[in-house]
Amino acid sequence: MSGLASAAAPNTPEARRAGAILSIDLDALKTNWRTCNAQTADGVETAAVVKAAAYGIGADRAAQALRSAGCKTFFVATIDEGIRLRSALGDGPAVHIFNGLMDGAERDYTHHGLTPVLNSLGEVDAWRAFCTGVGEPLACDIHVDTGMSRLGLENDEIQKVINDPDHLTHLKLDLILSHLTSSEVTSHPDNSAQLARFQHVLNHMPPARATLANSSAIFLGPEYHFDVTRPGVALYGVNPIPGQPNPMVQVVRLQAKILQVRTIDTPQTVGYGATHTAQRLERIATVSMGYADGYHRSLSNAGMAYIGGHKAPVVGRVSMDLITLDVSAVPEELCRPGMLADLIGPNNPVDDVAERAGTVGYEILTSLGSRFHRVYLNKET
Ligand SMILES: *Cc1c(COP(=O)(O)O)cnc(C)c1O
Repeated sequence: MSGLASAAAPNTPEARRAGAILSIDLDALKTNWRTCNAQTADGVETAAVVKAAAYGIGADRAAQALRSAGCKTFFVATIDEGIRLRSALGDGPAVHIFNGLMDGAERDYTHHGLTPVLNSLGEVDAWRAFCTGVGEPLACDIHVDTGMSRLGLENDEIQKVINDPDHLTHLKLDLILSHLTSSEVTSHPDNSAQLARFQHVLNHMPPARATLANSSAIFLGPEYHFDVTRPGVALYGVNPIPGQPNPMVQVVRLQAKILQVRTIDTPQTVGYGATHTAQRLERIATVSMGYADGYHRSLSNAGMAYIGGHKAPVVGRVSMDLITLDVSAVPEELCRPGMLADLIGPNNPVDDVAERAGTVGYEILTSLGSRFHRVYLNKET
């Protein structure tokens, strides 16, 4: 995907109709999974987090590609994401649900072969009661809170489980899980403090597999790897080690069509709120992309598009369905209605867009809209 190849739209009916094209490189996704996997020793399993529609790229296709790369364990946030993923993957791969046990939904887990991450003592007891009821120990994970104060058993609950192991009889404990607050900041003191706390809890819990590392924590070193790692965002091309060169390749390219180009003859303002004044001979391209497509409004007068590799800054406000670019520096032949501008691409990867928008790559990806023509690239299979 070279920057210069971006000017012309693919010649299919869907592409001709579409205002924007989202290309998702499933081979790049697989490469990123292998890069994460190569960071850990042979005995460590690399799972994949595909919650929130695989961070916007589409969970079914992402998970199928990752499975073909060798991934056997998937995490999502909600039961419904799990049910959908199970039907995309069929039997076989393990599907774990981060957000825990929903009261009364126990059968949905067993029916679809989903493993709940139990996040409180109440959930542990409820799952145990359910297992007793069906007369069979059923797989579950336990999340212990080591400093995130979000989900997971709190200290006093952990102590209760340790003091009275009966809490864990009649259930089949698969993973003991915890989550770091600041893994992308290598030197953050929470990393080692949470690691020590996790290790301490594991020493007192019944034997189970342990998992601590998200994407960034994989790069903190082998002591963070335990039995299973759970990368998410790095699989989708976001840099897990900010400040250092990105070891991941880009998965997503977002190109939007130029709808109109005008050359300003008398200085005048552009867009809502009249926040940009175009000078005489400035060329303005109006492009089919807006905040309804996940192009954040904070990119008003801040975003940077590329057309055939040439810079085209966003000028004026991002509106619901449109943005305006200053294309004065772009050769006119690359800048005609129907031609494409890269909003996320080789020159402006997800992390750059996030920085300009004042957010994180996670939010850029999970905001990606539903109006694009989506193209999945998958040369390997
Ligand atoms: C989302 C999530 C992950 C993946 O985190 P990344 O930073 O995207 O790699 C791992 N574990 C838990 C508990 C999560 O919620």
